[in-house]
Amino acid sequence: MEKLAIFGGEKAVANVPGELFKWPIVTPEDEAAVLEVLRRGAMSATDVTTQFEREFAAWQGSRHALAFCNGTMALQAAMYAIGLGAGDELICPSKSYWGCCVQAFNLGATVVFADIEEHSLCLDPDDLERCVGPDTRAVMVVHYLGHPADMDRIMAFAAKHGLKVIEDVSHAQGGLYKGKKLGTFGDVGAMSLMSGKSFAIGEGGMLVTDNREAYDRALAYAHYERSDAAHIVTPYLLRYQNIALGGMKGRLNQMSAAMGRVQLKYYDERAAEIRRAMNYFWDALEGVQGVRAHRVDEATGSTMAGWYAPHGFFVPEEAGGLALCTFCEALNAEGFGTRPYGNFPLHTHRFFSDFDRNHTGKPTRIAYSARDVRELDAAVKVSGAVNIFSVPWFKKYMPEAIDSYVHAVKKVLVASDELLALPVHEPDTKGCWSFFNRQ
Ligand SMILES: *Cc1c(COP(=O)(O)O)cnc(C)c1O
Repeated sequence: MEKLAIFGGEKAVANVPGELFKWPIVTPEDEAAVLEVLRRGAMSATDVTTQFEREFAAWQGSRHALAFCNGTMALQAAMYAIGLGAGDELICPSKSYWGCCVQAFNLGATVVFADIEEHSLCLDPDDLERCVGPDTRAVMVVHYLGHPADMDRIMAFAAKHGLKVIEDVSHAQGGLYKGKKLGTFGDVGAMSLMSGKSFAIGEGGMLVTDNREAYDRALAYAHYERSDAAHIVTPYLLRYQNIALGGMKGRLNQMSAAMGRVQLKYYDERAAEIRRAMNYFWDALEGVQGVRAHRVDEATGSTMAGWYAPHGFFVPEEAGGLALCTFCEALNAEGFGTRPYGNFPLHTHRFFSDFDRNHTGKPTRIAYSARDVRELDAAVKVSGAVNIFSVPWFKKYMPEAIDSYVHAVKKVLVASDELLALPVHEPDTKGCWSFFNRQ
């Protein structure tokens, strides 16, 4: 048995080529496109952005695409687009990033947290019935860490209850569910295109929909300079031209739009290489006791998109009862680079229990709702209990380098007995808020 690095042995991972993780991939073509906007002083114009939107809509397979300054704003506009309003409830998965749900508060709506499926880590369709009340208006679906949610069952549920569906595609741009693009199932899809995501254009967001009224509402909400008859056809929205209805400005900086147009040309090819590399990594660990892949069976026509922030499952029972955090410490000593637990389970954050943002004398979560939706949080179990750990996000298919990461996992698991003697450093919070800038 090899001596573990945590006990002074040699690291399993060393001399990794920088290219393996370099992201986004920026070439002279991106540079020229950005410089063109910069030199022309056209950062705040919309000519490049509207071209980007047209190309994005064609790629996405949606009738309309609307760019935003970031994904948080695109999702905010998506909520307005589907008509979320005062007293409404939005069901969203507890294990996610806050930017998929907190914006509901800005519309006088509130959030009900649903649990996630153990295998996909996405919204559990079996938990939806529990979340529905008289004021439920919409479901927010997050294709978490690149894994498509169970859209067949979620859409059937929404249809049965007359609910709108928004897809947050921030982790899964270009991904497929049974052969169809993620973001095209719900009424509206919205996503981040910030630098840490797999589709990375600097800072930006995109909203996609086939519904003209939803598109017009999103436009009117945060694009005041395009809220006239030249851009909007929905009559009631034209009564309020030239003021952003949301009191927000969502325009995309055209340097990012220019980069986005170039990135779009190569995105599918680059995402395919990421999947090849990630599948190679997990194939090599197939059958190894203690770890399991978080991925879809591609034979079903579904994909892991650009495999944003990849994670894997740790199975303590198969590793002699080793604690996940000790497993991670040992892996980090090997040069592997990992963090346990993924995103923090949102329902356990204090913000959702007692924060009174609008000085109404009541927590904002329940300030405008007919029922105390906080009481529903207690039933959310899986979200805070899954044993997942981040794995390296390989951008290039480089088998030799990837093999060293595979070796690190095997080496640590083989020696798990020795690790049992180490003190367990359980982190203060079971999960993190952001995956940005980590490797
Ligand atoms: C990144 C992210 C967002 C927010 O996007 P920004 O571009 O950072 O504003 C929203 N939802 C999810 C699931 C995300 O990962």
